[in-house]
Amino acid sequence: MLLESMGFAMQKRFGQNFLVNQGARQRLFKLLALPGSDQPPPRCWEIGPGFGAMTALALDAGLDLSAFEIDHGFARFLTDVYGSLPTFRLYEGDFLATWRRARAEQPAPDCIFGNLPYNVASAMIAALLEGGLTPPRMVFTIQKEAAERMTAKPGDKDYSSFTVLCHSLYRVRKAFDLSAGMFWPQPRVVSSVVAMELRADAPSCAGDKKFTRFTRSAFAARRKTLRNNLKASGIAEAAFDAAVESLGLAPDVRAERLSVEQLASLFQLLEQAGR
Ligand code: SAM
Repeated sequence: MLLESMGFAMQKRFGQNFLVNQGARQRLFKLLALPGSDQPPPRCWEIGPGFGAMTALALDAGLDLSAFEIDHGFARFLTDVYGSLPTFRLYEGDFLATWRRARAEQPAPDCIFGNLPYNVASAMIAALLEGGLTPPRMVFTIQKEAAERMTAKPGDKDYSSFTVLCHSLYRVRKAFDLSAGMFWPQPRVVSSVVAMELRADAPSCAGDKKFTRFTRSAFAARRKTLRNNLKASGIAEAAFDAAVESLGLAPDVRAERLSVEQLASLFQLLEQAGR
């Protein structure tokens, strides 16, 4: 394999599976729905560029690109190849640590994309949403099971506080699956590409840290009712009973039955009541 002959040793701990299928890379890139060339070049972030297969597409399309790579070998390679371009900058290190520095140094990006390392993909997405970085569009390749959690509906077994976090801010859809054979080395799992479009009609509490804490408490123990989960987090039962009644919900409802809008309304009522 070319990468090995170039001296790159794949690091399992960094989730290094490279999307070697060119057609798939182009399909993924199209999902960014970039504006025409008469518009200013969008500022995009790429998480985990590896040896730069998506990076090349992005720079050829004229994007202003910040790339975040943890692997020193790939970081050095990318700097050698693209470092002289004024439209390219590289942040070496763990994205979970480097993104805040990048955010402080430059205007907010218009889009974020990446073929994410499976083991930290959800943590990366949650860090952005909870950290208040919500660009108009994001496109990620993640493990199929993680995509199912991101696209679950109320009542589905995968519907969770992470789903609510994503759906409160974004319209999330699974665009397509990528089979293991499209990567090298081949992962043991199927991957899915998810496209996220920022909601213009997001509930006003979306992205609020208190709302995120509230939804985490609401889903804390799946076998418990919402009332008991919230009680355990310190919410007064009388306030809860009055709020669910005014929303027309059953007192023994479970969090996984409620839509994002219902959870947001309940949160807002409890906030107004001072809990
Ligand atoms: N973008 C390339 C592609 O599509 O072929 C590589 C994708 S590979 C699944 C994941 C990439 O993320 C690797 O280059 C890996 O070194 C990098 N990576 C893993 N953990 C990271 C982290 N915490 N922060 C930044 N990059 C990370």
